[in-house]
Amino acid sequence: MKKITYRVEIYLKSPLIISSGETNSIIRSMIIGIDGKPIIPATTLKGIVRSNYVYLHHCQHKIFNCNCEACMLFGSQNNRSSLVFFEDLKPSKEYYFSIRTQTAIDRFRRAIRLNSLFSHKTVENTTFCGKINLYLPSDLEKQNVKEKFEQAVKFIEMIGGSKSRGLGHVEVFIEEVEGR
Ligand SMILES: [Zn+2]
Repeated sequence: MKKITYRVEIYLKSPLIISSGETNSIIRSMIIGIDGKPIIPATTLKGIVRSNYVYLHHCQHKIFNCNCEACMLFGSQNNRSSLVFFEDLKPSKEYYFSIRTQTAIDRFRRAIRLNSLFSHKTVENTTFCGKINLYLPSDLEKQNVKEKFEQAVKFIEMIGGSKSRGLGHVEVFIEEVEGR
């Protein structure tokens, strides 16, 4: 089993939503850590990378008893444990909070709802950093899972935003570092 450690940096190209008055259409992508600083939770990051992996590498993922490559790597419900471990990403430098108020548009009726002003808190102008550990058995290493995993991380373009609002656009950098 080979252990690979990465340092990942997520640079915010546009403000990232931390909390929102709207509950159903925005993924709660970020939370405030116990020290009051914003974080991108490990579970959020893992979920995005996993779905990128399935999409990019055409995994034939099934709901039950799945043994696809994504389930081998990220774990599955049938007792398969994860081979990849993310940590919460923390801001590397100064960051700014802001409160934005926008008009919510009903996605189904395509109409502006009455009393539909809502606000959300965003963070901007920073880079979130953290580590990822990947444990690769030799069979997965032979299937280029390392390279495929890196592609799935680099493929992240947005976190918790919505394209129409132009929020949550990110740029991701990943580099292999020495493990501790
Ligand atoms: Zn699967």
